[in-house]
Amino acid sequence: MEKLKAKIRTEGRVLGPDVLKVDAFLNHQVDPVLMADIGETFVSLFKDAGVTKVLTLESSGIAPALMTALGLRVPLVFAKKRKSLTLKDDLWTERSFSFTKQEESEVSVSKQFLSPADVVLIVDDFLANGQAAQAMAGIVRKAGASVAGIGIVIEKSFQPGRRLLTEAGYRVESLARIARLSEDSIEFEE
Ligand code: 5GP
Repeated sequence: MEKLKAKIRTEGRVLGPDVLKVDAFLNHQVDPVLMADIGETFVSLFKDAGVTKVLTLESSGIAPALMTALGLRVPLVFAKKRKSLTLKDDLWTERSFSFTKQEESEVSVSKQFLSPADVVLIVDDFLANGQAAQAMAGIVRKAGASVAGIGIVIEKSFQPGRRLLTEAGYRVESLARIARLSEDSIEFEE
């Protein structure tokens, strides 16, 4: 998605060899017009996949996932990173190692919001090692629902996430694929 790549080039900030900061337009300040375009792009990719729900992880995934759910006319569910105060019996839960926080956390979704009839599109802001997407896919499986695919806004293709997810059989669609990051350049996959 050329508009997204241009935004990453002009407003993205590289923090070390493997972290890209995009809080000027995606995960702190949010560009709503760009989010609408991202949503439309995911809709065009997954419109024939029979999606009944969009699933993301709080909080950075919510903006692009909401615009996708709006376009598909289906509900958005966001997985929570902290245990809810309600009984754990009411939750589907998976463990996930956070790339940015470098710590393990639990992500959970209320059993109320996923059923075996659901066909779920997973959307997230970044794909690095694939932990967040795998945890969400695990929750979908536990609910007996199926995964329509995984929509990623920014994939860091030099990290193993895409390979792990495609080897597990998931369809992965990324709107910007970064081949390399360095202090002075952001290189995209051809
Ligand atoms: P993974 O679980 O694939 O290792 O990492 C994906 C999750 O970590 C995403 O939900 C995202 O919030 C965060 N993340 C991974 N890499 C980056 C990055 O380079 N920049 C930012 N801002 N977040 C990242």
